[in-house]
Amino acid sequence: MAPGLVGMHAHIILAGINEQTALYGEATFVHLVASRTASTMLNQGFTTIRDVGGPAFALKLAIDRGIMPGPRSFASVAALSQTSGQGDFRLLDELPRMPTTPAHRVEREVINILADSVPEVLRRTREQLMKWASKINVMAGGGVSSLYDPLETAQYLEDDLRAAVQAAADWGTYVCTLVYTPAGIQRCVKAGEKCIEHGQLADAAAVKAMADAGVWCGIQPFLADEDANPKSDPRQRAKQVEVGERTVRSFDLVRRHSPRLAFGTDYSSTRVAWHEWAASSTSSPVSCRHWKPCVWPPVRPANCWRYWGRAHPTTTRWARCVRAPWPTCCLWMAARRRVWTG
Ligand SMILES: [Zn+2]
Repeated sequence: MAPGLVGMHAHIILAGINEQTALYGEATFVHLVASRTASTMLNQGFTTIRDVGGPAFALKLAIDRGIMPGPRSFASVAALSQTSGQGDFRLLDELPRMPTTPAHRVEREVINILADSVPEVLRRTREQLMKWASKINVMAGGGVSSLYDPLETAQYLEDDLRAAVQAAADWGTYVCTLVYTPAGIQRCVKAGEKCIEHGQLADAAAVKAMADAGVWCGIQPFLADEDANPKSDPRQRAKQVEVGERTVRSFDLVRRHSPRLAFGTDYSSTRVAWHEWAASSTSSPVSCRHWKPCVWPPVRPANCWRYWGRAHPTTTRWARCVRAPWPTCCLWMAARRRVWTG
């Protein structure tokens, strides 16, 4: 029996490779690198990951069938983004998009998919579910790696978000959202989303809203330091620095208001090893004081897994198609004991 870490925010396809290659490089090469990343993650102690965006399903199948070494993956497919949003990586000379315009490369490679209205959100959500997404990822505010959207922008109307939540719920699963800002977080909570990913710009009211609604907070220690994902564009770097400056404050708000805290590294576009990150964390502004590593529990999947309901990927059609081994035990790091009972 070997203990392992559960990584609640990972992109196995985008980790271990730079952003440009992941988005625009030869797809076969990107997937080969990802298979090595999976092995590295396992050797670093991750026995389970929740993948929150990218074409991770083929690799998941190979891992589940014992063809490749790697962590058990609760895989996603493409993340939904509005036009101009966090997942829109088109060049400006590719605009405007007409009804006959073919899907962009980033959409064809199943990294992100554009949807701009309730009908489009419903269609794209259902397409991801048809491709066996274990949950739906929606980008609901300005991103760091994206070029056109300032961090403070709100993305998707509440009705759009509700549409994704309803379509996912009808399939027995849920929506998690990538968003940094207080207004975006509040809108997502109102729309019924279950997990907020990032949230470094959150204010006290937004963190309290997450706690009151029982929404999980998947915040990562982004510090814009030497371990941060390299950014070549000054617009990206400026946003990265802004998020980094707010990270410690957001962790303090989380400690104060106690939403359910999920541990994830967003380990992407970098080769920084988990153990190096962990070692630097002990002396960095976001330290073990913030994570407060808990105990080594007996077999107990994270309570966030409950959101899958009857569509839990290890108990339904996903599991019947693969021989998915359960990890024998997991190390769950959390800020509060509440995470065990939530
Ligand atoms: Zn991420």
